[in-house]
Amino acid sequence: MTEAAALPGQPRGGVLSGPATARAVNVLAPNASAMTLDGTNTWIVSEPDSELAVVVDPGPLDDVHLRHVVDTARKGGKRVALTLLTHGHPDHAEGAARFAELTGTHVRALDPALRLGDEGLGHGDVVSVGGLELRVVPTPGHTADSLCFHLPADRAVLTGDTVLGRGTTVVAHPDGRLGDYLDSLRRLRSLTVDDGVHIVLPGHGPVLDDAQGAVEFYLAHRAHRLAQVETAVENGYTGPAEVVAHVYADVDRSLWPAAELSVRAQLEYLRDHGLI
Ligand SMILES: [Zn+2]
Repeated sequence: MTEAAALPGQPRGGVLSGPATARAVNVLAPNASAMTLDGTNTWIVSEPDSELAVVVDPGPLDDVHLRHVVDTARKGGKRVALTLLTHGHPDHAEGAARFAELTGTHVRALDPALRLGDEGLGHGDVVSVGGLELRVVPTPGHTADSLCFHLPADRAVLTGDTVLGRGTTVVAHPDGRLGDYLDSLRRLRSLTVDDGVHIVLPGHGPVLDDAQGAVEFYLAHRAHRLAQVETAVENGYTGPAEVVAHVYADVDRSLWPAAELSVRAQLEYLRDHGLI
């Protein structure tokens, strides 16, 4: 889910629905909203010469969408062999159990409550299906259970809601924490600088072809918002709702409840660091 639907100055590119890289195809779920942008991106990932595919984030519980994902894979000559979740928010995970039923697959996630089958996902895990390699990168912050999946063969990373194709993400306090989120963004920056990742395959919005630029933008945005919140508190706006009305005055009011979660995360971070 997004905190601000339209921020200027971001790199953007790529597609909404259809092939995005040699190994990743997007099937856009029909759940567009202020919080989900164009809808949830359900990713089908596979080696070009393999019949087996991994699906990342089946999306909402919408049978038409879930069947469309299966059909899209089949038309590409693929059978879905495994389902992965970037995190447990319903716009990504609600349809997972039904999708697992339709495909006969297991569901792997960080949160044991979301799994179907006995395998979880954690730091250092490498998911291998039909020659495809996805490396698990824990990225808590949006939620505590957020993961990214590094697709080295395409120099890409599937980011769920940790980095979006447009706007910025919510730090969903109290489950999501700002300190964790900043560490996760730095981890993603290191993927772009040290591991050659160029492409962001996000959970919402278009594909980004300047991954490092996107992560730098997110880090700068978070620092800017944090400074604004700190100043607001210094000026006497102490309650989260007051801070939102002051700092997020430029953002559509429909996003203020989400912004309030981020503000709570920022206030906690500032208190924990002795800054307010
Ligand atoms: Zn989310």
